[in-house]
Amino acid sequence: MDFTKELQSAHQLVEFLTAMSRCETVEDATRTVAELIAEEFDAEIGAVISAGRVVATFGFGQQRVPESLLKAVMPGVGEICFDGIGPCHTLSAEWQAGSDGQLTVARCNEAFNYSERHLLLGMAGAFGLALDMIRVLERQRHEKQVLEVLLDIQRAISHREPLPNVLEAITNGASQVLYGRAVSLLLDDAQDPSHPIISGADLSSAAKTASAKVHIHGVSAGTLVAELDPETLDNEDELALLHAFAEHASLALADARSLEEVEKAFHDPLTGLPNRRLFLDRLSQALRHEECGVAVLFIDLDRFKAVNDTLGHDAGDELLCAVAERIRGVMRADTTIARFGGDEFAALVQTDSASENAAASVGKRIIEVLKTPFSLNGQLAYVGATVGVAHSEAHCLQADALLRNADIAMYHGKEAGRNVVITYHSSMGEALLERQVLQTDLQGALGSGELLLHYQPIVDLSTGRPLGLEALLRWQHPSRGLISPSEFIPLAEETGAIVDIGRWVLNQACLQLAAWRWIDTKMTISVNVSASQLRDSDFASDVLAALRLAGLPGSALILEITETALSEDMELALETLSALKDVGISLALDDFGTGYSALSHLRMLPVDIIKIDRSFVSSASENSGNDRFAAMIVSLGHACQLSVVAEGIEEYAQLQSFRALGCDLGQGYFFMHPGDAVAVESYLVDWSRQTDD
Ligand code: C2E
Ligand code: MG
Ligand code: MG
Repeated sequence: MDFTKELQSAHQLVEFLTAMSRCETVEDATRTVAELIAEEFDAEIGAVISAGRVVATFGFGQQRVPESLLKAVMPGVGEICFDGIGPCHTLSAEWQAGSDGQLTVARCNEAFNYSERHLLLGMAGAFGLALDMIRVLERQRHEKQVLEVLLDIQRAISHREPLPNVLEAITNGASQVLYGRAVSLLLDDAQDPSHPIISGADLSSAAKTASAKVHIHGVSAGTLVAELDPETLDNEDELALLHAFAEHASLALADARSLEEVEKAFHDPLTGLPNRRLFLDRLSQALRHEECGVAVLFIDLDRFKAVNDTLGHDAGDELLCAVAERIRGVMRADTTIARFGGDEFAALVQTDSASENAAASVGKRIIEVLKTPFSLNGQLAYVGATVGVAHSEAHCLQADALLRNADIAMYHGKEAGRNVVITYHSSMGEALLERQVLQTDLQGALGSGELLLHYQPIVDLSTGRPLGLEALLRWQHPSRGLISPSEFIPLAEETGAIVDIGRWVLNQACLQLAAWRWIDTKMTISVNVSASQLRDSDFASDVLAALRLAGLPGSALILEITETALSEDMELALETLSALKDVGISLALDDFGTGYSALSHLRMLPVDIIKIDRSFVSSASENSGNDRFAAMIVSLGHACQLSVVAEGIEEYAQLQSFRALGCDLGQGYFFMHPGDAVAVESYLVDWSRQTDD
């Protein structure tokens, strides 16, 4: 080859390399080289073959060149024949670098000469090197892109962007760095594992896929799936990339879960209000930083349980949310309002002057706003609220102690008649403490035999003859002496101890009556039943067991129930009581007239006896409205064919006036104070002797 030709060839190679260096991708370079060689050699066809496949062609035969023919062309010079064109000269040159392949040109008419063969060899070698270079650059660009995409995702996670957005950024980003192939995140749905939540592109079922597991704190939560490049199945780099994206999905999910948990840990799920923990935290902060006063309002709804029981739990939940709304409505926007569970709410009041008056007037506003009835399921529900207030300056600076004081004040408010605001005073704490001590003592009273029954006769008012006995519980406290039931039964109701105690009373009273039946076989025993007992699912069977144990018929037992106990869960109570009535047990409505809906209960309940509360049994001399009320109850009772018992007859005049009203039965100190079994037995024996005589 002469020098000029060699120079020309070198020049062509430099130009060739320059053209190659402009290409950014392997694809681009391959396409360009096919075109360049076709032009350079004035050939009809320029083709690139790599890994046994024609990867690019250029020229008129572009579409028509059968691949098998091109593949058959070995490096070197040859001839192929195209239909309609005739024989064609071919020239091929191989490259071997990071990859290998061959460049091929096909030219009609003129055969290739030596220097052309030389030039193509040079071009093939240069192309191989250019490809290597482009690949390195491509990889670098790709790595940079991966880094940028992952950084964007990390930013989205740390900025706590909404989880669906972050997951979408992950699937889109993965798809982008996997050259636009479909990527999808399948999250196990805890509710229904067979139906995962899908984020990202839908994958065609035919596609080969690679997958990487997604975890939340080490527990499998789903899979990140990507379509594989059919050319490069099992590409380790791509798998590593997929794992990196799956790791980011795990991070995002774990972070979202922790946020959710934090949210749950500090908020009431129903109303979304802060819970006790968050309230105490804010209270502590306020106590630490506030120069002016801090007051805590403890708010307890008054008739929530009745609403919940009668209208159902969904209505109860709706009510609590509505209550939260109303409380919020009367507070400053920055006030912390919390729900502690059940029907207990609290508010943290920080005013320039959290004076007694300021906090109490907030309490009054709350009571006022809750007085308006709530409409639930088309029914009106009336609830009230009792508010206890405690101030920081006056008594303590500890958050939990302040809250406890507000609670104690609220408790006193309940006792004082509800719908009131009561401010804490240290004497309240002492009373409560005493109460707690008594409550603890009571837990052991039954086991240590400190409980006993006294009995009081219920007599026929026309003759004075005892027809039955009411069992009245007493507590012989080791240090405090005899404690009255009105003092300890509310405590037993609070702790639930009343259920066991009540069962014991039933058994004891029935056994005692059985022991006295020799005196009078018709004698009945009346046993007081509290609300908690009525709610206890074993109550009916306990009653039947007590009768069985004592060998008494149902007709020997009267259960005394107050209206308040009944109003707690009327439906359940009715069911239980009707079942007991079927075995002949009678029901007495105790303390009649003190409840607020006495007459409506009379219509609904399977009652046999009403006991007029002793507050209506006034002295004949008083001539108060009570007399008229008592007269009305007696005639009402008779109209409903019920027996009427006048409770608390202490004087002869009272006996006379009830006799005059036609009241059947009476009970009171006038006949006999409640007494222990020995005293009552001698009373009964005396009476039976009198009748015998
Ligand atoms: P109660 O069922 O209305 O019982 C009548 C109460 O009136 C008794 O008070 C009795 O001693 C009192 N009493 C009777 N006659 C007179 C009188 O002439 N004047 C006055 N001032 N009082 C009279 P006690 O024994 O203190 O019982 C109070 C309440 O405790 C009972 O009222 C009842 O509701 C409850 N109770 C008593 N024993 C039990 C029990 O075993 N279980 C339950 N759940 N409650 C009980
Ligand atoms: Mg009673
Ligand atoms: Mg009574």
